[in-house]
Amino acid sequence: MSTLSIKDLHVSVETQEGNKEILKGVNLTIQSGEIHAIMGPNGSGKSTMAYALAGHPSYHIIGGDAYLDGQSISEMTVDQRAKAGLFLAMQYPVAVAGVSVSNFLRTAKTAIDGKAPQIRTWVKDVKASMDNLRMDADFADRDVNVGFSGGEKKRLEILQMELLKPSFAILDETDSGLDVDALRIVSEGVNRVHGQTGCGVMLITHYTRILRYIHPSHVHVFVNGHVAASGGPELADQLEDEGYDKYLGL
Ligand code: ADP
Ligand code: MG
Ligand code: MG
Repeated sequence: MSTLSIKDLHVSVETQEGNKEILKGVNLTIQSGEIHAIMGPNGSGKSTMAYALAGHPSYHIIGGDAYLDGQSISEMTVDQRAKAGLFLAMQYPVAVAGVSVSNFLRTAKTAIDGKAPQIRTWVKDVKASMDNLRMDADFADRDVNVGFSGGEKKRLEILQMELLKPSFAILDETDSGLDVDALRIVSEGVNRVHGQTGCGVMLITHYTRILRYIHPSHVHVFVNGHVAASGGPELADQLEDEGYDKYLGL
């Protein structure tokens, strides 16, 4: 049983005009086994929260903190956070020319486990996960995200999640740009890992569409850099009907 708890988190981002406060006191606690949907309009700071938790260098914690099983993440390096089981699937995954998917996955697994995976079981695991995600075998030989379609990038994020088995997965708009078939395959992947490992999931999304496939236990409305309301799945239905206006003071 693990807990990710975010307490009065304030984060600023480096911009050309200087540092700007984006997160203004986020409070949120996620336990293993729970799926929390974070729903909010564009520009509300959802990706900023994801990056700050993962330890992106441009995002600075200027107040409050987040804790992984009681340990302050501010005091942990990016590597330490990943080793502690925190995983981020980015909204805009980056391309890495010259590094194959297969090498990338093995390097990540080795870094997180602190030792190289046993080659025979590893090859089998990768193949099984790729089959699950309906990825062709030759995908493993391609450079990471170079020339990948939106759907392929998102599948690679879920493939990583499947192989790294995090205790907390932050999925930032994993649904964006997916057609219905890809959305279903990616969602099934998330559900499979969640079902097998009991990881906690922070599912950041702009739309309710993905919630037809991944069923959150908790739903949070995220506006203006903080959580404005929290509830159960019924809150997502309400947002679908009414939008975010009332939370924005409109
Ligand atoms: P969301 O993911 O909810 O759409 P973001 O966290 O991406 O929101 O952005 C929140 C705000 O922070 C926006 O006004 C955005 O322009 C600003 N912001 C985020 N990251 C950066 C950055 N690296 N440089 C400049 N501004 C940023
Ligand atoms: Mg956005
Ligand atoms: Mg975003």
